[in-house]
Amino acid sequence: MNEINVIGGGLAGVEAAWQAANSGAKVKLYEMRPVVQTPAHRTDLLAEIVCSNSLKSDEKGSAPYLLKEELRRGGSLVMEAARQTKVPAGAALAVDRGKFAELITQKIKAHKNIEIVREEVKTIPADEITIIATGPLTSDALTLEIMKMTGDDQLYFYDAIAPIVAADSINMSVAFKAARYGKGGDDYINCPMDKEQYERFYNELVEAKSVPLKRFEETHWFESCLPIEEIARRGIDTLRFGPMKPKGLPLPSTGKEPYAAVQLRQENLMADAYSLVGFQNHLKYGEQKRVLQTIPGLENADILQYGQIHRNTFINSPQILRETLQTKKNPKLFFAGQITGVEGYLESVGTGWLAGLNAARILRNEDLLVAPETSAIGALCRYVSNVETKNFQPVNITFGLLAPVSVEIRKKYRNKRERHGVQVELALKDWDEWFSKINKNSLEAHQ
Ligand SMILES: Cc1cc2nc3c(=O)[nH]c(=O)nc-3n(C[C@H](O)[C@H](O)[C@H](O)COP(=O)(O)OP(=O)(O)OC[C@H]3O[C@@H](n4cnc5c(N)ncnc54)[C@H](O)[C@@H]3O)c2cc1C
Repeated sequence: MNEINVIGGGLAGVEAAWQAANSGAKVKLYEMRPVVQTPAHRTDLLAEIVCSNSLKSDEKGSAPYLLKEELRRGGSLVMEAARQTKVPAGAALAVDRGKFAELITQKIKAHKNIEIVREEVKTIPADEITIIATGPLTSDALTLEIMKMTGDDQLYFYDAIAPIVAADSINMSVAFKAARYGKGGDDYINCPMDKEQYERFYNELVEAKSVPLKRFEETHWFESCLPIEEIARRGIDTLRFGPMKPKGLPLPSTGKEPYAAVQLRQENLMADAYSLVGFQNHLKYGEQKRVLQTIPGLENADILQYGQIHRNTFINSPQILRETLQTKKNPKLFFAGQITGVEGYLESVGTGWLAGLNAARILRNEDLLVAPETSAIGALCRYVSNVETKNFQPVNITFGLLAPVSVEIRKKYRNKRERHGVQVELALKDWDEWFSKINKNSLEAHQ
């Protein structure tokens, strides 16, 4: 009999498999690609990153940094691969997606305790320790199985991705390199607009035709990943205060900020592809090309990947999961990754990390781990398993999710930035104490 099944070889699944296998368990990692493809993945590699290559801010004192640091200190496979394949991205951590996925695939293949099975799993294995990490694009057959198990008839809503253009098709006599407020040198390419250019772009955008969706009126969008045309429909200036804000991006020629700006982020180590930051959309391809080419600097843009919509499957975790990521009904069954209702690459990795360790502990009849309440992983698990949550929606890690600091600290550090810095330091101290204790116990148990 397999000791642990991990279903889904995405970001959460590889981390879960790695942690369980390093704890001594034999793991079967099921990945349906390339036998069955998803609408977003392009390769058969494990841990394929499907959209932006950014793993978000790595600035000390930020919530995404805390999450990364917990994973780094926890021996995360994904964070090690990110370190080895990073590309310049200012204060953010971004990776060469191809090299990143190749490295992880090699490491998993080479692990003596992991067997990779290329197969679509259609039923939930009964009475075996199993982690379901099939992500936002869980196959239809398994989605139906999960619906049966949870009693839910609505497991999804819609999300959108941003377009990517070829670097050598960007007109650099108009566009310029700079990072916002000078953080990170010249890591981004920026396309500036004056008022007239902005208004022309805006009008083209709101009049462009979208790909029709079934029952579109009933579509639920994820608020922090709204398609750009949906944001635009909220008012002419919403883009200038959102994804097209010019703040901190003065024109090299005048030193003044433009009326609006489009930022493009490097996609790979070769720097031959750039994605339009915040430009996720679901316009028809012809319309999309026409609208994007009205952006100064992108008049002749060669579009390598168009913006698209995609399904986002997630369970009603507050009713289903414990903080350990086990299901309430079946302690041998775990969920991890985006399907739990966390949103984002590293949030998925964080839940995979904990589910992998816990699955291995069940095997050894050990107490299961609950991550410290001050930690980012602890906060995410608490959020998804909190029965009090009304209108459960996927979340990224933010300070709003973390356990609040003491009144003394709030009084002492009135400046939010400073307070967040202290909060992250304290959280990491808790994390180190907790992690060294569980590591020590598990080493002793193996001796
Ligand atoms: C189009 C798109 C764009 C996105 N853009 C971003 C972004 O820019 N930034 C961000 O942070 N997050 C983004 N996300 C969310 C992103 O997918 C997640 O953050 C992350 O990939 C989730 O990790 P995961 O391991 O849960 O799922 P995934 O990484 O999707 O992995 C799930 C794996 O399970 C496999 N699988 C599915 N069903 C089965 C089955 N029945 N049997 C076997 N294998 C199966 C899939 O093939 C896949 O490899 C995007 C998602 C999509 C779909």
